[in-house]
Amino acid sequence: MKYIIESVKQWQEEKQEPEHSSISVLEFMQEFDFATHYLSRLLKVRPFVVYLLLFKKAYFEEGQRNITVKLSGLGENLLSDIGKPMSHDVIKRGINDLVKLNIIYKNNQLRPGQVNEYEVRLPSEIPEVKEMINADKNISVEEKNEDLEDFYTNPEKRIKIFERDNQKCFYCLCELQNNTFYLDHIFPRAKGGENYKSNLITACKTCNSKKSDKDAETFLLDSYRGGLMTQEEFLKQKATLENLIEKYKECKSTSI
Ligand SMILES: [Zn+2]
Repeated sequence: MKYIIESVKQWQEEKQEPEHSSISVLEFMQEFDFATHYLSRLLKVRPFVVYLLLFKKAYFEEGQRNITVKLSGLGENLLSDIGKPMSHDVIKRGINDLVKLNIIYKNNQLRPGQVNEYEVRLPSEIPEVKEMINADKNISVEEKNEDLEDFYTNPEKRIKIFERDNQKCFYCLCELQNNTFYLDHIFPRAKGGENYKSNLITACKTCNSKKSDKDAETFLLDSYRGGLMTQEEFLKQKATLENLIEKYKECKSTSI
């Protein structure tokens, strides 16, 4: 999939608008993916289905972005939700919606009586879809970068963990100050635990040294049994810990 995205990106950079209308199988797959992921969020069900029919006809069957459309032939094999073939009316309204939104262009130079000709834009050429693609790309890059950063040795990042944990020891809930907190590795350094923020937790000096290389979940349970927190507090800490562990495992798998 990564390869497909890369090749399409390159193709998009090389040409703003494709010079010829035929697209490769990989591009077709990528564009189809854009349609189902992003364009479907912009459109109501019926115009979306009509778009898919036009997209398939243009790029899969005819290999050109300008196609003539006979409404009676479009969608004749698709049944509506009441079990009847999609009506011309539905298709016509769908087409009108798509024209209004500039997702397809109507070729106006035809004489009356001729079948209509439409230019079908690729999903990646539609500005709203482009924005969604870019937003997703930026989020995943930012998140991924921060997730894999060293939060242990960088003082500014250490403070972020401290603030995330509400300036309390995670294991006994005692209040801590900027200069009295420690960071504990959920998966110990000695066992290959990383300095990712998902593997770090705020601890007081006592808990940090008592916990040492012990399993974090067991250590938290011991604190609860030792009367350091209420059941409600314990369940909350336990859920937070489980989320961090899950996140950490995800990070570990992407960093390989
Ligand atoms: Zn503590």
